[in-house]
Amino acid sequence: MHELRLHNTLSGKTEPFVPLRAGEVKMYTCGPTVYDYAHIGNFRTFVFQDILRRYLKQRGLKLTHAMNLTDVDDRIIANAAAAEVGIREYTEKFAQAFFADCQALSVEAPEHWIRATDHIPDMVRLIERLQKKNFTYDSEGSIYFRIARFPEYGKLSKIDLTGIQAGARVDNDRYEKESARDFALWKAPKAGEHFWETEIGKGRPGWHIECSAMAMKYLGETLDIHTGGIDLAFPHHENEIAQSEGATSKPLARYWLHAQHLLVEGEKMSKSLGNFFTMRDLYRKGYKPSALRYALASVPYGRQLNFTFDGLQQATSSVERIRNFADRLKQRKFAAGSPQGMKERAAKALDDFDAGLADDLNTAVALAAAFDFVREANIAMDSGGFGQDDMASAEQFLEAFDEIFAVVKDNDGEKLKQLGFAPGESGIGDAEVEAKIGERQAARQRRDFARSDEIRKELAERGIMIEDSKDGSVRWKRK
Ligand code: AMP
Ligand code: ZN
Repeated sequence: MHELRLHNTLSGKTEPFVPLRAGEVKMYTCGPTVYDYAHIGNFRTFVFQDILRRYLKQRGLKLTHAMNLTDVDDRIIANAAAAEVGIREYTEKFAQAFFADCQALSVEAPEHWIRATDHIPDMVRLIERLQKKNFTYDSEGSIYFRIARFPEYGKLSKIDLTGIQAGARVDNDRYEKESARDFALWKAPKAGEHFWETEIGKGRPGWHIECSAMAMKYLGETLDIHTGGIDLAFPHHENEIAQSEGATSKPLARYWLHAQHLLVEGEKMSKSLGNFFTMRDLYRKGYKPSALRYALASVPYGRQLNFTFDGLQQATSSVERIRNFADRLKQRKFAAGSPQGMKERAAKALDDFDAGLADDLNTAVALAAAFDFVREANIAMDSGGFGQDDMASAEQFLEAFDEIFAVVKDNDGEKLKQLGFAPGESGIGDAEVEAKIGERQAARQRRDFARSDEIRKELAERGIMIEDSKDGSVRWKRK
């Protein structure tokens, strides 16, 4: 195993990862704000966190991972009030949709799923601790954190605090760096909006105190890793640090990891630009959960991911390629021995794979290690150079690969059914047809006509007719 190094936003450096207690990791990830369906940008971050989670476990670390559902925030309170329903009633549909989306994308459940609405007393107690230590002041029924009392304020996001007026406040949960101010820990009730009756008065928690209280309750006052998308570094995580460290005088987290944002065709995703997608939008277009997971995982989290339909198409083909290789391996039709030493080649692939992931989760390097090996092993299989004795190490490699990427098992149909797509509704999408045709062309090139016929038959059964033209190109249409 290679030394694990992670990029820590707090230090600005990529550092060796050493947990506080040897062999154990306490990790907190900020979950979704359940006021709507999650989009592919959110899942870029959740898939990164899943890769991190799976890799820590693959390294033999005992992981305790807590993830929250933000079910109290400005948008939820406002939307629930407008719909004249309770918060829980309003958010339940989106919480369930989120769990289903996680399942479809093979995002593992953390050890603790927690909801803000179940932890109001913990938040109140934390605010009381801050009150006792003089970090707060009241104004018009709300309670604010006085950032001037916390000289380290800004250490995570490196914001420049010169020019900030003492006592200037911000009430919104989300705001830009230019609006850095004293922020609300507890908000006074507004007419028609939900509130709780507590020891510190009527009202509701601000978004930031929720994560501070829940993270420390489940994981202790100092966590090993705290993660989220880059937009959370300021103000959310900066404020979590101020509140938690103000109360405990201990570091809240030792490593802060942030995923860079996902763009769509080079642009910020937004409803007004018409480039905004939920997972379900893409399934409806015929793309598979495995391809989406692969596309989201393939770009290292520290780099911006430019989501494109070409990229999703390529991801579909990559998943097909690795599945075909797994199928070929399962057929076990190999000569005796290890004619070309492919078992050593598989061991090297495993080492390169680990080296990639250990280097700040460089999934691009890990995937290159996998596909170089698959290509060479396929060539060896074509020419009888892959033997019985090579199988175990190739299988071991695939197993390690899938512990992280989780795309080898072909269960997309089942997953789509779980999401409520009727069979055939998501049909066979253009992406999958193209991938199958590419695979058939490759089979023909290596003169594997049995396989190429099999693919033609499978496509025919799914309503796709293919025509080979004389120049070697292939056309297809739906029956
Ligand atoms: P939210 O539901 O807004 O609280 O966000 C849930 C997670 O998605 C957070 O970790 C955000 O940082 C992350 N996120 C939001 N938009 C994007 C995006 N375009 N790319 C990557 N991560 C995002
Ligand atoms: Zn959070």
